[in-house]
Amino acid sequence: MTVGTSGNRIVIVGHGMAGARLAAELPAHSPDVKVTVLGAEPHRAYNRIMLSSLLAGTVDESGVELAEAAGHGIAVRPGVRVTAVDPAAHTVATDRGDMLGYDHLVLATGGRALVPPVRGLDPERLPARVAVFRTLDDCRRILAVAARARRAVVLGGGLLGLEAARGLAARGLDVQVVHPVGHLMERQLDPAAGAVLARTLAGLGVTTHLEVAATAVDAGPDGVRLALSDGRELETDLLVLSCGVRPEVTLARAAGLTVNRGVVVDDRLRTSDPDISALGDCAEHDGVVTGLVAPAWEQARVLARVLTGENPRERYRPRPPVTRLKAAGIDLAAMGDPEGGGDPDVEELSFSDPARGTYARLRIVGERLTAAIMLGDNPSVGTVIQLFDRGAPVPLDRRTLLLGRSRDAAAPTTTESPALMPDAATVCQCNTVRKGALVRSWRAGARTMDDLVAATRATTGCGSCRDAVEGILDWLSAVDTPDTAEEVAA
Ligand SMILES: Cc1cc2nc3c(=O)[nH]c(=O)nc-3n(C[C@H](O)[C@H](O)[C@H](O)COP(=O)(O)OP(=O)(O)OC[C@H]3O[C@@H](n4cnc5c(N)ncnc54)[C@H](O)[C@@H]3O)c2cc1C
Repeated sequence: MTVGTSGNRIVIVGHGMAGARLAAELPAHSPDVKVTVLGAEPHRAYNRIMLSSLLAGTVDESGVELAEAAGHGIAVRPGVRVTAVDPAAHTVATDRGDMLGYDHLVLATGGRALVPPVRGLDPERLPARVAVFRTLDDCRRILAVAARARRAVVLGGGLLGLEAARGLAARGLDVQVVHPVGHLMERQLDPAAGAVLARTLAGLGVTTHLEVAATAVDAGPDGVRLALSDGRELETDLLVLSCGVRPEVTLARAAGLTVNRGVVVDDRLRTSDPDISALGDCAEHDGVVTGLVAPAWEQARVLARVLTGENPRERYRPRPPVTRLKAAGIDLAAMGDPEGGGDPDVEELSFSDPARGTYARLRIVGERLTAAIMLGDNPSVGTVIQLFDRGAPVPLDRRTLLLGRSRDAAAPTTTESPALMPDAATVCQCNTVRKGALVRSWRAGARTMDDLVAATRATTGCGSCRDAVEGILDWLSAVDTPDTAEEVAA
């Protein structure tokens, strides 16, 4: 067991998605560690990415709970904020007035929602009808106001803002999105895809105002008035701010650790102090702050193996992320940089059918997908994600990917048939669960969906892979008898 040079006490600051996962991983790798998790939020660990579904009403609060790390050697203290770290003394101080010693400290402090510098908005004291969207308490607040509201405005047309807008529209509110850029989700989409998405949203009760910023907010007990940069004014009952997230680095900075945008870490997730690590939304690895759960959970896996000595050589290697919008009635997956760096051999393919809300764009360099946008009903989206993820060569007939059909209309795409899916295909992006792992778990006795989920954690992140995992389970149930086992493994 490695941990610190002097002992085995690990203190984790932050009981969010990264901290909770690390706390669950550590004892699995070494029964000797003594883990204390200090979390400022007063709740049990919960799945933050499912807050969009909670807002939309497709799950209730029990549906966002995360499996708790429990058992020998683990102490979780919810509602306790760490106020200072003393790297020389190896101690942290809490807002309860106590002090804890550590051999190794892990910062998993996540990020905080940005309140834009708009007249009438004080980040420390938002008016009752104005909320950010980051925590369970934020979500409860939004829902409490929404229950008595007819209209909502969402400031910010990025991924989270649109999930919030769609969720509120699904609850029957008249929703408007105000976005300062010329098209929606500009970090993931090109202008054409943004336009198709805006049209789809309009059909779902969400109006968008583009290239316009909020200049002032006047919030009273009965409503909110929002002044826009083009001179217009919007009146609403609820204002949701979705203007970006900043890594929470206050403690790290005060402790003298190296901080850029996030707390700077190396491939072992070590900060500039070898006895302190950082992971998740607060960490910056190789110049990148990810803000996504898949890298946070992969970092937790790596850090657990490094700290417990199970594999001190393990290193964090980021994978290019795939972004999916979790909103009923909108199917969107985006990966890579759609504008990409001007490679002369790039092959650009696109298809647009705005009336049906469909848009697909692929960038191919050297027979490999370097970026893709798949919006609307496209049966090949799973295949596209797999090819991008594995860096595998694309099929000769590109139409299979772009339109979900090939010259041979009878030929299934790999997502239509689990049998054709290679073992290396990542089925659950959040937990990096490959088809091969699902097959092995089945063989080891996991014969129901619950068993497979418990064995692999597939579906426990955003949940968008549930259909694919169920498809694999059905296929295994049908074909994986002892006689066919070798065929399945092929
Ligand atoms: C509504 C919503 C939807 C999302 N959807 C997706 C998605 O579909 N896919 C995806 O990949 N990502 C999504 N994300 C982002 C994802 O939730 C984050 O990447 C993930 O939560 C990062 O985990 P973390 O533990 O680093 O941070 P967090 O989950 O934010 O946890 C950090 C915790 O640390 C605590 N903390 C901070 N400072 C202290 C302190 N001093 N003392 C004690 N505790 C402290 C905080 O209170 C918090 O509980 C979504 C986020 C939101 C808000």
